[in-house]
Amino acid sequence: MSAHDSASAATGTKADALPDPAAARILSTASAGRVKVHRFEPSGRSITTVVGKGDEHWVDSGMGFCSCRAFYFAVTRGGNPSCYHIKSARVALDSGKAEVIVFADEEFDDFVRGLVPEL
Ligand SMILES: [Zn+2]
Repeated sequence: MSAHDSASAATGTKADALPDPAAARILSTASAGRVKVHRFEPSGRSITTVVGKGDEHWVDSGMGFCSCRAFYFAVTRGGNPSCYHIKSARVALDSGKAEVIVFADEEFDDFVRGLVPEL
């Protein structure tokens, strides 16, 4: 039994400890297995999703896109749209904490339809 659970989220990261509650949320999302990379074989293309409060959002961390409402409203307001899903995805991908799930290419269309029902 090590001190590796619940209350020990703050591990000696003094240098980059941000006094920002949003940063804590991003870190906990990134490390809780809520960032998932769905990889389709054999093409190798992938879709990243982040599980938020009950919803799963499609995130393209490279392009800076997220399917959530916060991102949508940020886009309509102009500026530099982002949201905590995108930031969480970047943290998880950078630190190798994203969960990778492999699918067959035939499942791609259904998967996308499930994520974005309006399409
Ligand atoms: Zn989002």
